[in-house]
Amino acid sequence: MSQPSTRADVDACPGALRLHAAADGPLARVRVPGGRLTGAHVRVLRELAGRWGDGHVELTSRANLQLRAVRDAAAAGLAAGLEAAGLLPSRTHELVRNIAASPLGGDPAVDRLDRALCADSRLASLPGRFLFALDSGLGDVAFSADVAALPVHTHEGHPAAVAILFAGADAGLRVAPDAVVPALLAAAHAFLDERAAQRTTAVEATPGSRADAPDAGVADGRRQVAWRVRELADGPARVAARTAAALGVRPGPAAVLPRPVPREPIGLIEQPGGRVAVGALVPLGRLRPVQLRVLESAATVTVTPWRGIVLRGLTPEAARNWAAALTEAGLEVAAGSRWAGVTACAGRPGCAKSLADVRHDADAATTAGTGLPVHWVGCARGCGSPAGPHVRVEATGSGYRVRSPGGSGFAAVTEVGALVSAARKG
Ligand code: SF4
Repeated sequence: MSQPSTRADVDACPGALRLHAAADGPLARVRVPGGRLTGAHVRVLRELAGRWGDGHVELTSRANLQLRAVRDAAAAGLAAGLEAAGLLPSRTHELVRNIAASPLGGDPAVDRLDRALCADSRLASLPGRFLFALDSGLGDVAFSADVAALPVHTHEGHPAAVAILFAGADAGLRVAPDAVVPALLAAAHAFLDERAAQRTTAVEATPGSRADAPDAGVADGRRQVAWRVRELADGPARVAARTAAALGVRPGPAAVLPRPVPREPIGLIEQPGGRVAVGALVPLGRLRPVQLRVLESAATVTVTPWRGIVLRGLTPEAARNWAAALTEAGLEVAAGSRWAGVTACAGRPGCAKSLADVRHDADAATTAGTGLPVHWVGCARGCGSPAGPHVRVEATGSGYRVRSPGGSGFAAVTEVGALVSAARKG
């Protein structure tokens, strides 16, 4: 049995209505299911960021958006502006609309899942960290989510099936493609049920504690709350069993599913039907006003979990023109870009915990060349770290230390750039 991991903090995920008090001012996070935006959305976001924030729009590792340094007095106006643009369809569910989707897939289930989630009053109590995923079959978003739908190959002659994964684990649960949305909602309810059951067990094991008491389940000063499936004891197996029972489905044997190392889409990418997509890196995930203005004229803009953007469904000529326009605006569409795979947390001045201005230092130290992803962090918390193997560059207060995925620990460095380049090569 796996041991549960618990956290003593409360669920304080920021949102568009509940701003986070960052060191550089209040921070608003706007959920964007599947990272799907229109050009009109981008215009509204630029205007809101320019009017009340620092003018930039940040991309997160869940393909959500952040506006920084939002003045307190502007919170109501910000919410109203997002609501008018259709970017805040539910005030009760805004923190739980966490839906990742393969950026190159055109999966219409994103909208259906979002609407069904917002229509389910109980699911408003999901933690803000709980993540759904709709994977196109590439395996690029399924394995880091709490509950995910992943199309799988079947034997010849059998209908297509979709695996429902729990914290990246296959429990043999398969559903038809048109049953994905109810299956994911059932899985979310199963998570809440299992969490409540484990909480009750913890309360009963805590002398003098009542299930309805505010500190119910507190042991050794720590509140026994699981925010994600993997934080429950035997979470994937137990939540899968509850989901299968709710759906009336008998799970088959679990499969060992290949886990590709996801990489960001970059450059011109062929799509079905002779269409072409353009993938662009957004250096350190921060869109400047001039870049937002360029994106406003796109029909659709998809934000990726690698803090980039994709424009899909273009003719070959339009794709070439867009690639030129994005390059001109300072976005990166060349596969050899020095920014490929490079990400960073907020760092100074946005985060009071940061020991360095990691964005400035990443810019100074990052040279051309690809390899393992690199994530720069301002302290040991490691916010926004990629799910897969990556090089970690962590500020120490007197410099940096670097850890590669196969290494036994950190190496302290003074000349960061050379060590990062070497670490990326594995
Ligand atoms: S990793 Fe540390 S410095 Fe970076 S955002 Fe998180 S808490 Fe702040």
